[in-house]
Amino acid sequence: MTPFKAPIDDILFSLAHVAGADTVEGWDHETAADILDHFGAFAEGVIAPLNAIGDAQGARLENGCVRMPDGFKDAYKHLAEDGWQGLTVPEAYGGMELDPLVAAGVSEIFSGSNHAMQMVCNLVPGAVTTLLRFGTDAQKARWIPKLASGEALSTMALTEPQAGSDLSVIRTKAIRDGEIWRLDGEKIFISGGDQDMSDDILHMVLARTSDDGLRGLSLFLCAKQSGAKVTRIEEKLGLHASPTCHMVFDNAEAELIGEEGQGLKAMFTVMNHARLDVALQGVAHATQAARIARAYASERKQGRAADGAPAVLADHADVARMLDEQDILAIGARAMVHLTFVELEKGCDPALAEFLTSMCKVFGSEAGPRAADLGIQIMGGYGYLTEYGMAQIWRDSRICSIYEGTNGIQAKGLATRGLKPGGGADAFEDFLMRLSDQTAGTRQFETWSTLKQDLRASADPSASARAFFEGSAALLQDAIWRRIRDVADHHTDTGHIKRLADRVLGAQ
Ligand SMILES: Cc1cc2nc3c(=O)[nH]c(=O)nc-3n(C[C@H](O)[C@H](O)[C@H](O)COP(=O)(O)OP(=O)(O)OC[C@H]3O[C@@H](n4cnc5c(N)ncnc54)[C@H](O)[C@@H]3O)c2cc1C
Repeated sequence: MTPFKAPIDDILFSLAHVAGADTVEGWDHETAADILDHFGAFAEGVIAPLNAIGDAQGARLENGCVRMPDGFKDAYKHLAEDGWQGLTVPEAYGGMELDPLVAAGVSEIFSGSNHAMQMVCNLVPGAVTTLLRFGTDAQKARWIPKLASGEALSTMALTEPQAGSDLSVIRTKAIRDGEIWRLDGEKIFISGGDQDMSDDILHMVLARTSDDGLRGLSLFLCAKQSGAKVTRIEEKLGLHASPTCHMVFDNAEAELIGEEGQGLKAMFTVMNHARLDVALQGVAHATQAARIARAYASERKQGRAADGAPAVLADHADVARMLDEQDILAIGARAMVHLTFVELEKGCDPALAEFLTSMCKVFGSEAGPRAADLGIQIMGGYGYLTEYGMAQIWRDSRICSIYEGTNGIQAKGLATRGLKPGGGADAFEDFLMRLSDQTAGTRQFETWSTLKQDLRASADPSASARAFFEGSAALLQDAIWRRIRDVADHHTDTGHIKRLADRVLGAQ
């Protein structure tokens, strides 16, 4: 097994030089580097060694309670004591109040070292933002300090057996009972629905307060001890250490957060954070897959080079091509997410934020399994074995294109809402120009503009939604790689970065 190494230099290069974090008020490069160094050491020493153990043991359900794999509880205690759960939480509530750009770096390192554990811990920032935006003073005071200190973790409970992508058919009912509410119904696939790492759990539950489709949904806060029970955890392809729970709410006590009937709006605050986080999970997987494959391919001797000398795998053109593709996926996807974070920090218009977030979700989540698949191919039979961890990366990363809104639904949103007047597509075009005015002159850009016009005139744009996503992503990657080539001198391996940029830009 190749030990995990946090990609700190790559993250800092991407944040500071590609995405322009230094143009954001309050960005402090030294502090960011310091925090990433600290978390990187913690992830390498404490969290990453549990990744394979978690995969082999899995989470277990015993007497209605979830037991995490060996070592997870202690690692979480350490994580919480060091304050990592409160990284972006305001100081007034006991957090460190650091900016989301640094948190993005920390989150990528966490996912790369142990995705299963990260996804149980990392719904907290979205929950805190939702509480800050929609919670009453009492709700904020009750929950945010607990979430920041790690005493509580949080979940996001939307899915039901008949309500996956289509939340309008959610059946879980909320009934007012004096000052409080009672929830009745079942939820499936709830990540971290129970675990034995934190003392408390805050479930954020989407439930029905009227029969009016999506407008009849409200968001509720429901504590672990309030009557929410886990009845089953799912067996699945990967992420064995992340308990995916079937939950029953039987007269469970809950509090309304935000306005009645505005549940989806409140839930989207959690989900928008989660979508970028999922994109970073993809980046993390692609990065690890690339690193493991490159290390292996530079050592394993097979065949001969053109000059007849003994060769390692990386000397063969086809392997070199695949190794480069892995790096291009990881670096390009990371830059896309970081640029989006920087735009969000600068307060870009909400339609552009939504457009970029969906693009990141699809592109990042597909980068992970694609890079892992290439990794398996590069390593041959050893890639297919469990020994080097590539197979686990492939299995663990596969979920990312499904949860937090499937990639099909994200692409559909780009081609429908995104193309409406005031949707994100026009702002995206301006955004591209700002990144690189050369992208606008390409044939790709002309094709995309034509598709955009055709889709606007079409009665059913969803049929070409995937093509529209691919065209948009290709343009953004073109602009990103032009920027990367321009700033390559700031990277610790300038020659490699320039070569990758030439491969991407020369290929058009
Ligand atoms: C490991 C894991 C963890 C999860 N964690 C959570 C969690 O913490 N909380 C939570 O609430 N849920 C969670 N989920 C559920 C996840 O969000 C759903 O699986 C996802 O929303 C898709 O729903 P579905 O599985 O019912 O698929 P479906 O909605 O049945 O979709 C199946 C396919 O049809 C396509 N499709 C469906 N409707 C449309 C449409 N209108 N237009 C175009 N294409 C469409 C989809 O894109 C997809 O390709 C988790 C799932 C898993 C497997």
